Amino acid sequence: MVASIVPVPPFDLVVIGATGDLARRKLIPSLFERFHAGQIPDGSRIIGTARKQLSQDAFRNYVAESLTEFAPNGNAESVASFLATLDYVATDATSEVGWEKLANRLGPADRRVRAFYLSVAPRFFAPVAEKIVNTGSGNQDCRIVVEKPLGHDLASARELNAQLARHFDESQVYRIDHYLGKETVQNLMALRFANALFEPLWNSHHIDHVQITVAETVGVAGRGGYYDQIGATRDMVQNHLLQLLCLIAMEPPSRFRSDTVRDEKLKVLRALAPLDNPGDIIRGQYRGVGTTASYGEDVGNPDSRTESFVALRAGIDNWRWAGVPFYLRTGKRLRSRVSEIAVVFHAAPHSIFSDSKADMHQNVLAIRLQPNEGITLGMTIKEPGPGGMRLIDTDLDMTFAERLDATGLVIPDAYERLVMDVIRGDQTLFMRGDEVEAAWAWIDPLIEDWKERGDAPKLYDPSSSGPEDALMLLHRDGRRWRELAA
Ligand code: NAD
Repeated sequence: MVASIVPVPPFDLVVIGATGDLARRKLIPSLFERFHAGQIPDGSRIIGTARKQLSQDAFRNYVAESLTEFAPNGNAESVASFLATLDYVATDATSEVGWEKLANRLGPADRRVRAFYLSVAPRFFAPVAEKIVNTGSGNQDCRIVVEKPLGHDLASARELNAQLARHFDESQVYRIDHYLGKETVQNLMALRFANALFEPLWNSHHIDHVQITVAETVGVAGRGGYYDQIGATRDMVQNHLLQLLCLIAMEPPSRFRSDTVRDEKLKVLRALAPLDNPGDIIRGQYRGVGTTASYGEDVGNPDSRTESFVALRAGIDNWRWAGVPFYLRTGKRLRSRVSEIAVVFHAAPHSIFSDSKADMHQNVLAIRLQPNEGITLGMTIKEPGPGGMRLIDTDLDMTFAERLDATGLVIPDAYERLVMDVIRGDQTLFMRGDEVEAAWAWIDPLIEDWKERGDAPKLYDPSSSGPEDALMLLHRDGRRWRELAA
């Protein structure tokens, strides 16, 4: 099966911070992949800009190197054609340097789409937005793309939103959460809203609980100074994990359109029950073992109380989800790198096959974002063969790759889809400002609370599943986390 490619009209994209890590590893390789696939038409322009003075050729060489590393499948011909679309202008977000030149390079505002990807630190969002507007670089339909962190609490998120709103309408602002660009996440929406099968089961009568896990094997070395100010809750829960929770918990929107989908997500965020029981949140920090440095060593702050792991039990105060726990966990230096949502259904009310409670099986719909993106439905079946009535659990592959003759289909990186959505003007997979604020409004009191209590994170071993207390969070409810496969 060949994925259908719908070309977009020619556009101008300005990557601000084009020499940075995100642009080098993700953004520019993703643009190349779309170009290689034939989705970016002739006449489109990609203009890199950053503080560094670089000639056009030097920038093209820099991009060529990054493509060798991060988009190794392109052939020489398409790489050369892609490089020919690239231009570079040095600008400084803290001064007027370069901005007029950029405006001249873009030319008079016409009706073609102009997008500005702010791949720079958030403190530059406001000055850059101002310069785009003041120099007339933007046009009526221009778009601005920003990345996390979108604030570090409700007040700073509001301030950031207000700064952007001074220059751009909300319909022009694209706040990326790359988890939403994952193929499987969109498939989850298809599964829920294009099939009548799951909807009647999608509530507290049939769902026992939901687990959302984003586990990483890496530590914080390299970005320790930043991370130590932030911690796992702000870095991961406020955005990625809560966005995934929203997609599981939201009501069916009336249409698959940006504001109808985002309205429903917002309702979920506003219905999150306050987390006022300290026992429902476990914070952890990895310790050093052998040659593996501790968190404190990695961030150069041995007394740090910042969490590199957090697990919590959230609840949603509405009819659909009353009484259903949503267990969220994320952390660094864990046993494996996995991002997964597991929807665990109630066991059958009575087993006709065994008197043992241990033999009661639960169906699990597992949505795996990485590695090996896919959706499986855990089913209990009879073990094949003549050996009597023995039950086994097995996974039904709900991605149907073989059936669709799509086993060789390369799933595009989330950034490929999201950047093209910006050009198409589709905000469905981007966070609206009020969603970001609602998520902070729920997170802020947790952080305030543990600051007030002087809460110290529990230590856990590297390559483990996190602190013991996180396991107990589910044990005390008679449940178990899904294994983090070694
Ligand atoms: P980076 O520090 O590697 O790069 C920043 C870029 O900004 C560089 O090109 C630099 O030249 C440019 N820059 C710095 N000061 C400037 C100035 N005064 N004027 C003009 N340009 C200036 O950062 P990054 O990792 O690429 O991250 C960029 C943004 O994306 C940040 O907001 C970051 O939080 C966010 N983000 C990054 C990642 C990632 O994987 N790197 C992931 C999620 C979010």
